[in-house]
Amino acid sequence: MIATKTLKLSLKSLKDFAKKRLPDEMLQELDERDECPLDVVHDMCSPDKLGIQLLFIPEEFGGMGGGAFDVYCICEEMARIDLGVATAVLATFLGSDPITVGATPEQKKTWLTRIAEEGLLFAYGATEPEAGSDLGALRTTADPVSQDGRVIGYKINGNKQWISNGGVADAYTVLANTPSGPSWFIVEKGAKGFTHDEPEDKHGIRLSNTAALAFNDVCVDANRLVGGVEGQGLNQAQAVFGYTRLMVAAFGLGAGWAALDRAIPYSTKRIQAGAPLSQKQGYTHKLIVPHVAHLEAARAYIEETAERIDAGEGSLNTEGAIAKYMATEAGNAAAEASIQALGGYGYTHEYMVEKISRDVRITTIYEGTSEIMEMTISRDRWQSHLKTRGQHYHERARELEALHARQRGVGADIAALALHALAEIMEKARVARLTRYQHILLRLGELIAYAECAGSLSRRAALVAEGKLNEKANRRFDATALAALSRIFSREAALKVTQDGLRWVVGAGGISDAEMTGFEASLGLPAIHRAQSGLIADMDYIADVLYGRAAKGRELAA
Ligand SMILES: Cc1cc2nc3c(=O)[nH]c(=O)nc-3n(C[C@H](O)[C@H](O)[C@H](O)COP(=O)(O)OP(=O)(O)OC[C@H]3O[C@@H](n4cnc5c(N)ncnc54)[C@H](O)[C@@H]3O)c2cc1C
Repeated sequence: MIATKTLKLSLKSLKDFAKKRLPDEMLQELDERDECPLDVVHDMCSPDKLGIQLLFIPEEFGGMGGGAFDVYCICEEMARIDLGVATAVLATFLGSDPITVGATPEQKKTWLTRIAEEGLLFAYGATEPEAGSDLGALRTTADPVSQDGRVIGYKINGNKQWISNGGVADAYTVLANTPSGPSWFIVEKGAKGFTHDEPEDKHGIRLSNTAALAFNDVCVDANRLVGGVEGQGLNQAQAVFGYTRLMVAAFGLGAGWAALDRAIPYSTKRIQAGAPLSQKQGYTHKLIVPHVAHLEAARAYIEETAERIDAGEGSLNTEGAIAKYMATEAGNAAAEASIQALGGYGYTHEYMVEKISRDVRITTIYEGTSEIMEMTISRDRWQSHLKTRGQHYHERARELEALHARQRGVGADIAALALHALAEIMEKARVARLTRYQHILLRLGELIAYAECAGSLSRRAALVAEGKLNEKANRRFDATALAALSRIFSREAALKVTQDGLRWVVGAGGISDAEMTGFEASLGLPAIHRAQSGLIADMDYIADVLYGRAAKGRELAA
C-alpha cells in the first residue's frame, strides 16, 4: 500500500494530465473517429511521464506497490476521465494479473519489471468466440513440444475474441488448453503465426482498442507457461477476481458520478416553468438523488472490500462480485438518468452524457456479466445460509442492530430489517426447493447484493460520524449527509427484499394460501413500511446538499 499523500499526488497528476491531454473536445473527436489515442495511453504508462502503471506493480519489481484501496481510487478517477482510455490501462493490469499471482520468480522479475520500466502494454486473452461467460469451453490449445523427453516449448492454436488492447499490446497473456488443463501463456507481439483483426466497431468505449486474436502454430518457449506448471490457469484467473472486479466496480462508480456531475450543474442553469430544474423535486428526486444513493451504497461496499483485501483476507470473489454488480448497475442507471436530466441536450454528442452512457454499458458485461455476478453471489451466500441453518443473515442483521444501538440515525436498523427479511426469504426458498429455478437463484443474488450494500453504507455512515473513516476514502459527503443517504438506500433495499422476495417465492408456488399471513409477518413488513417515514425529508436534504443549499450543522435524525 502507498502513503495517503502519494495517492493524493497520483490522483492530482492524473487529473492534471487528463485536463491537458484529454479535454472534452478531443474525447468527442476520438469517439467519433473510433480511435484509441495510443500516444496518450503510452504516456500514461510511461515511467518518465505519468507512470500510472507503477501503482499496480509491486515495489520489488520497480513499482509503487499500491493496494486494492489505492487501485480503486485510481480506477474511479480514470473512469471519470474516459472509460475507453481507462480500459486500455486496465488491460495491462488484467494481462499481468496471472503473472502477479501465478508466475515463477524469474517470470515475475522479467515481465513486471518490464511493465514498470518500459511501460509495456499488455492484453488479457481469455474470451473466445465459443467461450464467454463459460471459460471452461475454451478451445485454444497449447500442445507441448518435446526434445529428448523434455518439454521445451508449446505450440498455440486458436482464436480469442473482444480482447482489449488486442491490436496495440506489446505482450499478451493467453489462456489455452494444455494436456493438464487451461494454462496462461505469455505471447509477444510479432510472434510468428500470431495475428489480430481490425478493431471492433463498438457501441461505447470507442477510445479502447478491442480486437480478435488468431494463433496459428505460434511457438513459445517453455518459460512462457505462467508458473511453469500446466493446468493452473483457471485457478490463477479465480485468484484475482475479487480484486479485478473491484477495479471494474470503480469504473461503474466513476462513470456514474461523471454523468451526474454534468447533470447537477446543468440543472442549476436550465430554467423551466420559471425556476431552475434543480429546484424541482419531481426532477431531483427521480433523476439525481436515488442514483447518488445507489452509487454511494456501492462505494461503501467497494471500500469495505478493498480494505479487507488489503488486510489479507484473501481474494474475496463474492464481495468483488457484489461490488461490481451494484456499482456497474448503478453507474449505468445514473448515466441513463443523466441523459434524461439534460433533455434534448443530453441526447446530443456535445454534452457528453450520452457518450458516458454508451461507455459505462460495457461494465455490466466485461469481467463477468451482471447475470454471472448474480449467480456467483447467490451460490456462495446460499452455502452460508445452509451452513448456518438459516442464521447467516439474521446474524448480520443482529450486528447492525448493535450498531444502531451505538449510532442511531445511520440506517443500520432499517438495513437490519432488510437482512432479517432476506434470511426468511432464503429459508422459504430452501424449504420449497425454489433454487431449482435458475431465475429465483439469480434474483436472490440481486436481493443479497442490495441488503449487503445497505449494511455496508450504514457502517460507513457510522465510521464517518465517529471520525474513523479510512483517510484515503472519498469524503464528498459529511456524516449527516451520508446518514441520510444510508437511510434512503436502506429503505429501498428493505422494501425490495420483501416485495421482490414475496413475488418470486409466491410466483414459484413456494407458499400455500394458508401459510401466506404467517410468512408475511415473518418478513417484518409493517416495520419496513413504517421505516419509509422520513424518506421525502431525507431526499430533500440530499438535494439541498448536492446543490449547496443545506444548512450546516444538521443533527443526525434518530
Ligand atoms: C469491449 C469489450 C472488451 C472486452 N475485453 C476483454 C478482454 O480484454 N479480455 C477478455 O478475455 N475478454 C474481454 N471481453 C469479453 C467479455 O469478458 C465477455 O464478452 C463477457 O465475459 C461475456 O461473454 P460473452 O460475450 O460470450 O457473452 P455470453 O457468455 O454468451 O452471455 C450472453 C448473455 O447470456 C447471459 N448468460 C451467460 N451464461 C449464462 C448462464 N449460465 N445463465 C444465465 N445467463 C447466462 C450473460 O449474462 C449475457 O447476458 C471484452 C468484451 C467487450 C465487449
